[in-house]
Amino acid sequence: MSEDDCLFCRIVSRELPSERVDEDDRTVAFLDINPWTRGHALVIPRTHSKNLYEIEGDDLDATLRSAQRLAVRMRDVLDCDGVNLLNSCEPAAWQTVFHFHVHVIPRFEDDPLRLPGAPREPDEGELAEVAQQLRK
Ligand code: AMP
Ligand code: ZN
Repeated sequence: MSEDDCLFCRIVSRELPSERVDEDDRTVAFLDINPWTRGHALVIPRTHSKNLYEIEGDDLDATLRSAQRLAVRMRDVLDCDGVNLLNSCEPAAWQTVFHFHVHVIPRFEDDPLRLPGAPREPDEGELAEVAQQLRK
């Protein structure tokens, strides 16, 4: 995808509108257009990269620092009870916009969000086997 076609690059360049809530040299933060909770925001690097596999290290650092800054502000200003950070990498993991972004989602004790996954018992030997694969 070229940057001209990228929704979030067009938000960075202000070609498309957004409710911007923070920015620095490397990052922009703005409200998600379909918020899961009140204040749900996205933090993105100004420089286009598709996802977690491809983002350059300094942009990743800056994006996570910006997400932390915003989480603290959400706690202080929105009086939320907690915050979730979410990143989706590739369609199999629910990524729908292909410019790296971190969701910063303020959480409230009485909000309707639920864990998207169900913890399960691993198969016999699974943990040892997959740990060995990942160590290679
Ligand atoms: P993901 O599904 O993790 O790739 O997240 C993409 C997010 O971008 C979704 O939560 C969308 O609601 C959000 N989104 C899509 N278009 C816009 C837009 N124009 N402004 C703000 N957020 C958007
Ligand atoms: Zn982009």
